[in-house]
Amino acid sequence: MTERLYYTDAYTTQFTATVIEVAGDRVYLDRTLFYPTSGGQPHDLGTLGGEPIADVVDEDDRIAHVVARPSRLTVGQQITGTIDWTRRHDHMQQHTGQHLLSAVFEDLFGHKTVSVHFGDEYATLDLDVDMLSADRTARAERRANELVMEGHLVHVSFENAATATGLRKPSDREGEIRIVEIAGIDRSACGGTHVRNTAEIGPVTIRRVEKSKKQVRVEFLCGWRGLQRARADFDALQKMAAQLTCAVDELPTLVANASESAKAADSERRKLAERLAVYQVREMRAAVEAAADGVVRIHDATATVDELRARAQAASLEPRTVYAGAAGNPATVVFAASEDSGVNAGAVLKPVLAAAGGRGGGSPRVAQGSVPSVALAAEVVATILQVTT
Ligand SMILES: [Zn+2]
Repeated sequence: MTERLYYTDAYTTQFTATVIEVAGDRVYLDRTLFYPTSGGQPHDLGTLGGEPIADVVDEDDRIAHVVARPSRLTVGQQITGTIDWTRRHDHMQQHTGQHLLSAVFEDLFGHKTVSVHFGDEYATLDLDVDMLSADRTARAERRANELVMEGHLVHVSFENAATATGLRKPSDREGEIRIVEIAGIDRSACGGTHVRNTAEIGPVTIRRVEKSKKQVRVEFLCGWRGLQRARADFDALQKMAAQLTCAVDELPTLVANASESAKAADSERRKLAERLAVYQVREMRAAVEAAADGVVRIHDATATVDELRARAQAASLEPRTVYAGAAGNPATVVFAASEDSGVNAGAVLKPVLAAAGGRGGGSPRVAQGSVPSVALAAEVVATILQVTT
């Protein structure tokens, strides 16, 4: 049985203990301050006898400290353990913040917390509701921060499960249970490490609300994490504002306007490209002599894929015209034939593409496909102009 020193003291960061057993990379002590992964809260990091801790595992009766070089520790040895306070305190802020937020959601709206998770980036709690409105989210965030600023005491007690009263959620354990109480606000059975006053939680910020099955997942940040996130957000917003030469508060309107005008400009550009393609095809057509059958065959080797498509469309409407070209890598082949050319573009292109290991097809007027290489594309174009002669 490992004595769990963190149960009664979350603030001490150094302790001495005796090594009881070393099994593989797992080291067992008579007592420890190291918190093992449990109840959604990640384990502590730090050093044990100078060896870095890789993991701390809760084995019910005992706590296993996983270290990289356990052979340096021997049974009976007195060693000093030091926990990584920055990480521990961060987890304390998230965990007490979660108890507070869960209490607020239940007290304000009757939404019960069904599970919690504390990740490296953010913490989440799942509520037993189908949806959570933006208004309720904002009200819960506001209330949680009021309770932070009021500075309520948080303390730990040990009570018998059978007689403990006022628990937010009944405990499924028997015998002695550990109760974390936010004075006047919440009593929860919990084995985690907690701050001693709600003021120490720092800012509580809800980042995201997401539907997950028949529940709602609330992503939140407490303490320094919230401040760091807000700082990063503000830096990003300031960069955008500098780009658009406006104030941060004007960004939503300016970005919406910029997006609208980009869409309009794009649509205008497409129209112009279609009109330009008509003139380009006519110019190319004028430069090529018609074959004996009176059909003009254009081989276009100078276009992008978008230009090919626009020109193919234009060529299909010119009199007695066949048009083919390729672009891009992997290559796209585009083929067009006017109605009076006597050529069915889709029917001609399909088998030629297949023979070159490509695929595609289209209408009798305009067809396109892809082939694995630029060289094959050139062959396909040469073949289709050949077979339509
Ligand atoms: Zn808890």
